[in-house]
Amino acid sequence: MSGLSGAELERYSRQLVLPEWSEAAQLALRAASVLVVGAGALGSPVATYLAGAGVGRLGIVDADTVEVSDLHRQHLHFTPDLGVAKARSAAAKLGFLNPDVVIEPYQVRLDAANAAGLLAGQDLLVDCSDSFATRYAVNAACCAAGLPLVEAGVLGTSGLVMAIRPGKTACYRCAFAEPPPEGSVPTCAEAGVLGPAAGVIGSLQALEALKLLTGVGEPLVDGFLQVDLTTLAFLRVAVARRADCPDCGGA
Ligand SMILES: [Zn+2]
Repeated sequence: MSGLSGAELERYSRQLVLPEWSEAAQLALRAASVLVVGAGALGSPVATYLAGAGVGRLGIVDADTVEVSDLHRQHLHFTPDLGVAKARSAAAKLGFLNPDVVIEPYQVRLDAANAAGLLAGQDLLVDCSDSFATRYAVNAACCAAGLPLVEAGVLGTSGLVMAIRPGKTACYRCAFAEPPPEGSVPTCAEAGVLGPAAGVIGSLQALEALKLLTGVGEPLVDGFLQVDLTTLAFLRVAVARRADCPDCGGA
């Protein structure tokens, strides 16, 4: 007897038929709660693929509203959504995509003060934020909670992806000990970002999230993938845990 309904067997048939996938993997996704931090360029592909794949509960954290300059790369938002909170705009589209997924929008910016509350009850966090402050706050909170995490960033035509099992594999801070000095890294508004570049990085992030949730495949842990989309160079950089890491060091 299957733990999946007939409707689920049909909806997820093209992944269930994969030799790597299984009913156990599908049931693990259905039982999972995932927090997606940021409903923008990375959050759009991440949330779309996770909702489509059948993650049971998806929290969407974003404090911003939809602006016209977002639309070339943030495909969960459409022109009629201008001025609408991104968390709500994203939740509406994800509900159309897969009504079986419980979508919880949070119109806040994740910071050190609210992180523990937002992380409570989650099985995985996917960081799709666009600020170093949020990225370091997310890493610290996930390490403190022992919550698996998929980090990523994209700027211009390049990006980075890293999967983290706190306490077991290198964390973001093991790889990048300190945030870059204020103003030393341009923002997306200053440096620009190409839609498909964000799509590639976000898709890789969704893939890593599915691996961590189901145990299918080999997650990108103890290192990160550096991607240059102008040359299509994919470089995997190994990172070891640091005993003196302030976030995950096991002192
Ligand atoms: Zn660390």
